[in-house]
Amino acid sequence: MPTALIIGASRGIGHELVRQYRADGWRVIATARKPEDIDSLTRLGAEAHALDVTDLDAIAGLGWKLDDEKIDTAWLVAGIYGPRSDGFPTQDDFDSVMHTNVLAAMRLLPIVAPLVASTRGKLGVLSSRMASIGGRNGANGSLYRASKAALNSVLRDTAITHGPQGATCIAFHPGWVQTDMGGSAAAISAEHSVRDLRATLANATPAANGSFLNHDGEPIPW
Ligand code: NDP
Repeated sequence: MPTALIIGASRGIGHELVRQYRADGWRVIATARKPEDIDSLTRLGAEAHALDVTDLDAIAGLGWKLDDEKIDTAWLVAGIYGPRSDGFPTQDDFDSVMHTNVLAAMRLLPIVAPLVASTRGKLGVLSSRMASIGGRNGANGSLYRASKAALNSVLRDTAITHGPQGATCIAFHPGWVQTDMGGSAAAISAEHSVRDLRATLANATPAANGSFLNHDGEPIPW
């Protein structure tokens, strides 16, 4: 039975990843920060751990818990959009978006990628098309865009470091998805997005290491 690790699984895309991998018979290790969300993940059959991705001690604790694990597929999902209004960002807004979307990845990926490399497995991070500099045609959500562009940089470094050991590491745009972040008017359901994300990552070969892909596998310019 293959093992999936989902970081940030309380709701939205992360929760749907847990649901679909469990439905396919995978062993699933998942994280959430609230006790009621950990209970809900346990009821789905996941091995659930408490993790606030901005908490350094909690990340170290997760590292200990995962020490001997061999992970076939890992997803780093946890993320926040930050302020909906554009303009002069407060220090608090900047810190919370950058700590959640970037600093957490810089701390978690060095722990997770070797566990994925040990199975010659796959690692996906939930970026956003809004991160793309080459394909950019709007400037709304500037802080979120900057954070996801920085996340893409962290993913490329992870791919360069851990790809040669066997991990295939990919940054994904999940689509505009009907979740708390995407809103009810979004283009696709979480079920649709996750079905595509899982298939695209499962079909990725080592040649895709270090790429930035839409949920359906279409490349996105950095
Ligand atoms: P949601 O807002 O529905 O869910 C966000 C998830 O991130 C929740 O599980 C939340 O946990 C978790 N999270 C946030 N901060 C932390 C933290 N400090 N520690 C642990 N977990 C945390 O978002 P989506 O499911 O829509 O998005 C998932 C990912 O996909 C995000 O990275 C997002 O940027 C990206 N994305 C989404 C798009 C969309 O249209 N929905 C489009 C492009 C990218 P909690 O419940 O505890 O808050």
